Amino acid sequence: MTTTLWHERARNLAIDGRALIDGQRVWAKSGATFDDISPVDGRSLGPVARCDVADVDAAVAVARNAFEDRRWAGLAPAARKRIMIKFADLIVANRDELALLETLDMGKPIKYSLSVDVNGAANCIRWYGEAVDKVYDEIAPTPDTALALITREPVGVVGAIVPWNYPMLMASWKIGPALAVGNSVVLKPSEKSPLTALRLAEIALQAGIPPGVFNVLPGYGHEAGSALALHMDVDCIAFTGSTKVGKLIVQYAGQSNLKRAWTELGGKSPNIVCADCPDLDAAVSAAVGSIYFNQGESCNAPSRLFVEASIKDKFLEKALAMVPDFQPGDPLDENTVMGAIVDGIQLKSVLGFIESGKEQGAQLLAGGEQARTESGGYYVTPTIFDQVGNDMRIAREEIFGPVLSVLSFTDLNEAIRAANATSFGLQAAVWTSDIRKAHQTARALRVGTVHVNQYDEDDMTVPFGGFKQSGNGRDKSLHAFDKYTEMKTTWIRIV
Ligand code: NAD
Repeated sequence: MTTTLWHERARNLAIDGRALIDGQRVWAKSGATFDDISPVDGRSLGPVARCDVADVDAAVAVARNAFEDRRWAGLAPAARKRIMIKFADLIVANRDELALLETLDMGKPIKYSLSVDVNGAANCIRWYGEAVDKVYDEIAPTPDTALALITREPVGVVGAIVPWNYPMLMASWKIGPALAVGNSVVLKPSEKSPLTALRLAEIALQAGIPPGVFNVLPGYGHEAGSALALHMDVDCIAFTGSTKVGKLIVQYAGQSNLKRAWTELGGKSPNIVCADCPDLDAAVSAAVGSIYFNQGESCNAPSRLFVEASIKDKFLEKALAMVPDFQPGDPLDENTVMGAIVDGIQLKSVLGFIESGKEQGAQLLAGGEQARTESGGYYVTPTIFDQVGNDMRIAREEIFGPVLSVLSFTDLNEAIRAANATSFGLQAAVWTSDIRKAHQTARALRVGTVHVNQYDEDDMTVPFGGFKQSGNGRDKSLHAFDKYTEMKTTWIRIV
């Protein structure tokens, strides 16, 4: 579609910021709203319900009721499967609208909203729908005198809290497995990007998920988010977001009903390129493409690049040649590969990190500036720092912007030690032609996912999550079912 047509569609797009509780679109009980500002141009998309504790109480009561009367949990897995697949089909049918909402709400390029976010969300919902009637329970190898069944049951009411960087996808990674196994869900999207979650809930209703089973409450973290995580009648809280808030979520669980608390948190992923890397061009392309993808606002962005000293100059020459391809552009232009930073606060934070890099003595090789200010939106040029020390802020903290920190090494063991010298443990990569080195490095890296000779391979079949302060949960794959089910043992006397 042409850029003009996307803009025309954006102007005519209906925005509905009301919550969705019990199948109905409603404003917050208090009547409070907040303005949903688009980072594309700084304009308001419209008012959104500012839900708080009263709305959380109402939504949790509705979700509990829906769970207890088994309107969804009581369906055969094959019946839930059919509805989940219809849900996925309807996401695809509403592809353009969902992609446009996502781009306007959080600034990512429309081409990725279409190909990554909408397709990824539909794929996730479909995958869990298809999986749920193929998973078997267990019978324990007990003596003949008794039969012991080990079964999985839905946990009950799931509270899900998600961030703004992949709003629809992160929501789908929670609701896909949680709904498929029969739970009721109350989802709180980020206040920075609430629109696609609300549409997803409408689409779920249209697909046949009964009212009350999937509820969405937009609002602030310290209001709706904390009320959900502290609620005495929520059985499980599934959280994706920052490590700082993740720590609060675990505390809220302990302060309330000891609900199961799953956290998928931040990262500062190391990407180690050895001199015997089998394909330097591929390594450069992955290093640059992955840090600038989604404006650098990815938990698993390879933000720390460790390059073996003997190839660093060549590597950086090739990397710098690619940088112009990533200049931020109009997110509604299908040729744009880097869009807007989510809001003014995040923009200020990213620019602050860039200043700290300069102050602490790193060498700015590219970017480092705000861009497209005439648009009214929030854009940053693709940035590379060389001569980064492992103790600098830009090497230690999650920037969540298009900033690559380059460190070099001469001894691989030293690089592994530096790579592990972080509180995060989400993802890492190593590039080498030596299978022994690759395997030993992959083992030594304390992270949830290691890539060898590539960076961004991704599939619904593999778990995603972190070690250390990158969280304790795993999204995606059959393992995600563990988060949303309780394990029950039933002993049956036989003789
Ligand atoms: P954030 O922690 O600020 O917010 C995440 C969500 O928590 C939002 O919905 C927010 O409203 C809510 N929240 C904030 N304060 C709360 C509170 N006191 N109680 C309950 N809820 C509260 O994170 P963000 O800025 O939205 O997202 C960026 C972060 O998410 C980054 O750290 C990124 O690495 C991480 N992330 C992790 C993964 C993963 O799978 N590991 C995926 C995507 C993003």
